[in-house]
Amino acid sequence: MRIGLFGGTFDPIHWGHLRSAEEVCEALSLDRILFIPASIPPHKKDQTTAPARDRLNMVRLAVAKNPRFSVSTVEIRRRGVSYSIDTLRYFANKSKGRDSYYFILGIDAFRDIASWKNFKQLFSFCHFVVTSRPGDGHTNPLAGAPVAVRKLFCYDFKEKIYRHRSGTYLYFVKLTDIAISASQIRKRVGAGKSIRYLLPWEVEAYIKKRNLYRDREEER
Ligand code: ATP
Repeated sequence: MRIGLFGGTFDPIHWGHLRSAEEVCEALSLDRILFIPASIPPHKKDQTTAPARDRLNMVRLAVAKNPRFSVSTVEIRRRGVSYSIDTLRYFANKSKGRDSYYFILGIDAFRDIASWKNFKQLFSFCHFVVTSRPGDGHTNPLAGAPVAVRKLFCYDFKEKIYRHRSGTYLYFVKLTDIAISASQIRKRVGAGKSIRYLLPWEVEAYIKKRNLYRDREEER
């Protein structure tokens, strides 16, 4: 199977995330996309996030109707700070070469990858899929990436793709621009504004029921 691994805080999950997964799935003919909510995202350690259980429940509600989409609790079960290197190692060990994995991340996150734990090793575990973000016109996944990352890849002119020395590929997928962000949603909830049509209604109802994002100092 060709499996996409889509990690994130998903605080909360919204149409931008879901459409992004759908388009990557189609562009790379993936069989499944696994959404992997982080327990504690390393770059948001000092920020308050909704409880991991709530973020997980929201992702479950959002993907329930798509047979290609499912949720992995690997990072939430592991607890503590969620490092992608541990997650990729987990999937590589689990599959023992039967499946191929595609780690999906936005170009904004990819540009920051040199600050991730053991970043040089990440690319040996699976293929990477860098996706566009609204307002960023680049179509080269390495555009704006630090030299330490750029020099790990060489361009394969025959295949027209970047390749890591371990043999994995670095893809780029240009997405339909959907300028929705989780922080915008949290801010709107905090200000008592509507979030309808920014995310699935089941997730909106869950936020209301659990009274999430109502009293967040840093969002004001
Ligand atoms: P925040 O606004 O809280 O920083 P975020 O949505 O950017 O949230 P995550 O939930 O961690 O953060 O996002 C998971 C992944 O989804 C990241 O790789 C991010 O680049 C990508 N992503 C988020 N929003 C969109 C969007 N509107 N379109 C495409 N990709 C997105």
